[in-house]
Amino acid sequence: MFLTISTTGTPERPATDLGFLLHKHPGNAQAFSTSHGTAHVLYPEASAERCTAALLLEVDPVALVRRGKGKGKGRGGAPDAALAQYVNDRPYAASSLLAVAIGNVFSSALRGQCKAMPERAEQPMPLRIEVPAVPARGGVALVRRLFEPLGWATVAADPVALDERFPEWGDSRYVRLVLEGELRLAEALRHLYVLLPVLDDAKHYWVSADEVDKLLRAGEGWLPTHPEQKLITSRYLSRRRALTRSAMERLELVRLADADDTDVEDIDNAVDEATDTEEQPVPLAVQRRDAITAALRAAGAGRVLDLGCGQGQLVHELLKDTRFTEVVGVDVSMRALTIAARRLRTDGMGERQASRVTLLQGSLAYTDKRLKGYDAAVLSEVIEHLDLPRLPALEYAVFGSARPRTVLVTTPNVEYNVRWESLPAGHVRHGDHRFEWTREEFRTWSRAVADRHGYDVEFEPVGPDDPEVGPPTQMAVFTLTDRTRTDQTRTDQTRTDPSPKEAKAA
Ligand code: SAH
Repeated sequence: MFLTISTTGTPERPATDLGFLLHKHPGNAQAFSTSHGTAHVLYPEASAERCTAALLLEVDPVALVRRGKGKGKGRGGAPDAALAQYVNDRPYAASSLLAVAIGNVFSSALRGQCKAMPERAEQPMPLRIEVPAVPARGGVALVRRLFEPLGWATVAADPVALDERFPEWGDSRYVRLVLEGELRLAEALRHLYVLLPVLDDAKHYWVSADEVDKLLRAGEGWLPTHPEQKLITSRYLSRRRALTRSAMERLELVRLADADDTDVEDIDNAVDEATDTEEQPVPLAVQRRDAITAALRAAGAGRVLDLGCGQGQLVHELLKDTRFTEVVGVDVSMRALTIAARRLRTDGMGERQASRVTLLQGSLAYTDKRLKGYDAAVLSEVIEHLDLPRLPALEYAVFGSARPRTVLVTTPNVEYNVRWESLPAGHVRHGDHRFEWTREEFRTWSRAVADRHGYDVEFEPVGPDDPEVGPPTQMAVFTLTDRTRTDQTRTDQTRTDPSPKEAKAA
């Protein structure tokens, strides 16, 4: 199995920088032992103008067969594995083994890390990648559909003849793959890391749940928007339905969160500015945070969850008041959380203050034990980012499972949209809003949620309450009913206190 990566350079930016980026010196041939055999890295050419690194994987077929055994029932049982020894093309074709080798041998480059030349690792460079034999189920057409959307200028896949001596036999299922383009090296490696096994469509090892994480990590920045992401995800995860579904959901959440990186606050503020700024000197986002903070104080909440905390503006605000003894920000977007963490850190937060805050990555569409036992939860401008059919899942995770005493939910009031002059009629306020509700719609939903889970609910306007169309933001304040609260305490007690019978027995 064989792969070459070439680049060109100039005297100022020599092509041999490739050696730094790959963390492999062009002057040495190196060998690494991997779980499937030996991987060699060598440089057939290394000058300032042109540099080529080759990765050669010498697969140990015996180890491969041995590893294939007992890998889960009905998959690679002994008879298959024994047969595979004779008919298997694994040692010769670029496949998931090569992807694993890329992951092992070029792990830092794959992550885009390069201490020696950090800025070079960030920049696109002219790259040419060649893999002489890629098993490609789906043929040349699929190779194109997979690589072309990724910014490669040339995607060439020449079918390899089954046997050159007998052209009438036609083509094998292998192609010679050549990719050319200006890309970051890390991106290019990640494309190969994911797409080689996808083309091969026959993973050599048992696919486990952490493969989803690997896929999302390697797919960062390109998979969430790839037109073939369903096929890629399904094949990468060996068509295991539950894993594929979970990966697809997480990809959708990444997309959602990325859309939010334009920052909801900026959009509301932009809209604010477009209206009469004199009457409304305080941006709506600030008014919303003030309203939320006031409602939390009124509820006497000390330990607070900010669910869908985004870039942490509210978390930051709450920490200023020592009444809030613990603040937990939860978001599905790693990017948003990273920004939130930076915001909190750069603000020179003391240690005492830092001990009051936690940021957690998680999806609100799933119940999460970590969210139990808090006084209050805030969902500020979050529900409208979920597709309506996913809303019951969020409802259950928050009101059914986490069950804080107080829940605050804010969402846009769509009736108010006619007052935003800059907003074309019939448009939502943010490209990622899946819906925007009238006051009536929000109230109907809120009351049903409250009924289902034993809460009382009241409504508060946020922003100027227009006599005709209402306020720009609507807020629902849910409080566990006294009855439910007593019931809950009672159940808790029965759970912790031994029952009279048990007490006697003891
Ligand atoms: N609460 C903040 C941010 C609102 S934007 C504010 O009021 O300004 C919506 C946020 O919800 C985004 O940060 C997005 O990443 C997050 N989000 C969307 N769907 C989510 C889900 N299913 N689980 C967790 N967070 C989610």
